Amino acid sequence: MTFQDFNFNEHLLEGVLSMGYTTPTPIQEMAIPIILSGQDIIACAQTGTGKTGAYLLPVLDHISKTNKHQISTLILAPTRELAQQIDQQVEGLAYFTGISSIAVFGGGDGMAYEQQRRGIQNNVNIIIATPGRLIAHLTSGVLKLNHLTHLVLDEADRMLDMGFSDDIMKIISYLPKTRQTLLFSATMPGRIRSLAKSVLNDPQQVNIAISQPAVGIDQQIYRVHDQQKTPLLQLLLKNGSYASTIIFASRKEIVKALAKELKQAHVKVSAFHSDLEQKEREEILLSFKNKQLPVIIGTDALSRGIDVEGIDLVINYDVPGDPEDYIHRIGRTARAETTGTAITFVNHRDERKLKSIEQLIDKPIRLIDVPDELKSIEAVKQEHPTNKRSQRRNWGNKSRPKK
Ligand code: AMP
Repeated sequence: MTFQDFNFNEHLLEGVLSMGYTTPTPIQEMAIPIILSGQDIIACAQTGTGKTGAYLLPVLDHISKTNKHQISTLILAPTRELAQQIDQQVEGLAYFTGISSIAVFGGGDGMAYEQQRRGIQNNVNIIIATPGRLIAHLTSGVLKLNHLTHLVLDEADRMLDMGFSDDIMKIISYLPKTRQTLLFSATMPGRIRSLAKSVLNDPQQVNIAISQPAVGIDQQIYRVHDQQKTPLLQLLLKNGSYASTIIFASRKEIVKALAKELKQAHVKVSAFHSDLEQKEREEILLSFKNKQLPVIIGTDALSRGIDVEGIDLVINYDVPGDPEDYIHRIGRTARAETTGTAITFVNHRDERKLKSIEQLIDKPIRLIDVPDELKSIEAVKQEHPTNKRSQRRNWGNKSRPKK
């Protein structure tokens, strides 16, 4: 597929080529035809996938073929940086079309506000804004959006995380009811689906492969309490026939303590964390790659950097806070269409995180029963379940099976 296949306005196509884009990215291939057909869309795509182009190109094409003398498009973004980046992409792509845009964001002094105010009144077609500042312009009466045809919510999950939910709904109350709405989000938790339900009209959904784990991964969970985690880990390592295993834990302290405990149990293992010298880290990774070291333990920093073929087991000693990290972690196995196993330990405090992951991957993860010999291990009552210091004190010292 090429950009010529979309039948874009020729000046827009010129801009695309001058930006050095030759072929559409997967999200562009999927989303552009839907947006061009006038339907609402909910798209799951991360930064770096070409998602900005995926919504900008059809919107720019629409503007270039219709009335250029009014504000037709509003793009809401969570941060000033993202708003500026989007504005730059508009500038590049729309360079030969005569379409203009302005980025409107908070911070800065009164002069910045005044400049934005004048910019808004100056025949722009596209406003790219952070929600708070946009409301200031809307309520002052300077900005009128009655001719709006397109609303884009970019990085919607981050906007909700940053507490912009009410602001977004308030902004939408100023917009025409008949419009095309495009929602882009890196993750799809329930809150995003509810937002989509209230602001989108019969949307088409698009997911790109990067947000889904490889099909070759056998995903499993064990529901455990903290004192069962290390014995279960030892059992899995001892009983399984895995050549290469990565264990992920949420904090450096846990990584170190766990490595120590596994070494005492004669597991050949190294901890990988930021306190090590660069040279030590390289040596550990090299011996893991060469299959001399069968087990490595690290935090999420390890999940993004490591590119090793043939990892057959990933164990999440705890549930990652961000569902995206889960996909990055388990993506270390079953690379290049092989198969692998990803096991996650879930305690009662992590149930909500598990729910978010299952929502993101759009299916429940298979629950495996805790082995009988570990069932008798008693949970140690913690002073305060969310107090990390108390967790640290309790961690690891009462984790052996009761005789
Ligand atoms: P985004 O995911 O929108 O943040 O885009 C990531 C980067 O990819 C940006 O620098 C874009 O300019 C670039 N980009 C977007 N679409 C394409 C494409 N079809 N070909 C090459 N680069 C692209």
